[in-house]
Amino acid sequence: MSNYWLSDIYIQKTFIKKINEAAYKNRKSDEEPEDEAEDDSEEGPDDRLNDRQKMMYETYESIVEMHGMFNQTAKADGAHYAPADKNPFIEEGMICGNCVFFVGGGKCEIVSGKIEPNAICKLWIIPQELIKIKKK
Ligand code: SF4
Repeated sequence: MSNYWLSDIYIQKTFIKKINEAAYKNRKSDEEPEDEAEDDSEEGPDDRLNDRQKMMYETYESIVEMHGMFNQTAKADGAHYAPADKNPFIEEGMICGNCVFFVGGGKCEIVSGKIEPNAICKLWIIPQELIKIKKK
C-alpha cells in the first residue's frame, strides 16, 4: 500500500517547521546580537529586507529545495519570467539585477535558465531602498 499521504504530510510538516525556524531566527537577530561567531557556511536573507520579505526568501528557498527550481513559464511551476525587453518596471528598479536571488553571470538561485539583469519575474524580492516609486 502506498504511503503517499503520510509522506506528503511529513513534507508539509518539515516545510512549516523551516518557516517557523526562519521567523524565530529573524526575530532573535532583531532582539539580541549573537555571542558566538557566525556560521557563514549557509547564507541567510539580505539584511536590507523587511520581515515579510525575509520570510518569503526562506519560503522560496525551501520550495526550491523540495521541488527544484522554478522554470520561466507562466505555468504552475513557473516564475512568469519577463525578459528585459518586456519588463515594464525597469524605471522603478524592479529588475533581476536588484533581486536578492540574482547571482550574476545570467543566473538566478531559484529560476532556471539564462536570466538577464534587466528582466523580472513574479518571485522578485528587492530591498525597498532599491525600488523607486514613480510620482504621479
Ligand atoms: S526577479 Fe529575482 S527571482 Fe525572478 S528571475 Fe529575476 S533574479 Fe530570479
